[in-house]
Amino acid sequence: MKHIPLHIETPLIESIPILRRTGRSVFLKMECIQPAASFKIRGIGRLCQHFVNQGTTHLISSSGGNAGYAVAYAGRNLGVAVTVIVPKTTPELVRDKIASEGATVHVHGSVWDESHAYALELCNTVAGAYIPPFDHPTIWEGHATLIDELAHQCPKPGAMVLSVGGGGLFCGVVEGLKKHHWHDVPVIAVETEGAASFARSIEAGELVTLDSIDSIATTLGAKRVAAKALELADCHPVTPVTVTDEDALRACRLFADDHRLLVEPACGAALSTIYTMHSLLQSQHTLVVIVCGGIGITVEKLHEWEHAFGH
Ligand SMILES: *Cc1c(COP(=O)(O)O)cnc(C)c1O
Repeated sequence: MKHIPLHIETPLIESIPILRRTGRSVFLKMECIQPAASFKIRGIGRLCQHFVNQGTTHLISSSGGNAGYAVAYAGRNLGVAVTVIVPKTTPELVRDKIASEGATVHVHGSVWDESHAYALELCNTVAGAYIPPFDHPTIWEGHATLIDELAHQCPKPGAMVLSVGGGGLFCGVVEGLKKHHWHDVPVIAVETEGAASFARSIEAGELVTLDSIDSIATTLGAKRVAAKALELADCHPVTPVTVTDEDALRACRLFADDHRLLVEPACGAALSTIYTMHSLLQSQHTLVVIVCGGIGITVEKLHEWEHAFGH
């Protein structure tokens, strides 16, 4: 059985520009330099490898974003066919990037739920394996490798800051923290206001399904988080934070200037709590932010959004 490491070990760097701006020591876990553009390849790569080891020759995804891109990347490296079903709303830029990894991209449905249903149907007719974007224990195990690396890169963090979409990254990080006996490291879980399914669920004490998503951080747009995320929030110190799209976007710009790297607003959301030094973070010692990355950003797209906000 082949075992190709699909993700890379990423550096942890102390941000001198952020230290200058905020007076605080902030460490960045640089997932934005993963070869598949985000941390997603850790968990999704692991799940794809699992199915391929079992004889699967066709991987199927329904994500018009970084999860679909990670499946395409994994499939190419593992030598199997990949089909990604995306909704009409997926920008051409993203479709092209997924196709450039050799995947077949089908546009089906006007929203993700319809692409998802179609992808599940397809799995039966072509005997492929379905790779979900966030809700799978093997994906969480893969994401937890990020904490395995952190455990030998730094002393125990004062707090972890990360973005939440469907909660896959959150589940992986919390499981990783537990594994390394860092049960008491608080997690600041950041969403944008129009995609705050996790914050709403924590507040309600049960899974809440949002009617719609209204945010430029489409990557965080899961109407409902994984049940496991809410379960873990019950037994691990977690503080949900919501930020505006405008703050997330401003953080993308500041981060590009500070570190010469472009990240999606989904990632800008987490970074914005640092740039604004959210009151929650003031008492924490060393902060570690997961710079989750993303393919859905170009210089032009950043300008377009900034223009829309009147900057
Ligand atoms: C997937 C993704 C997220 C959210 O991760 P979940 O596991 O869905 O919570 C955040 N940022 C980026 C760049 C992503 O690709």
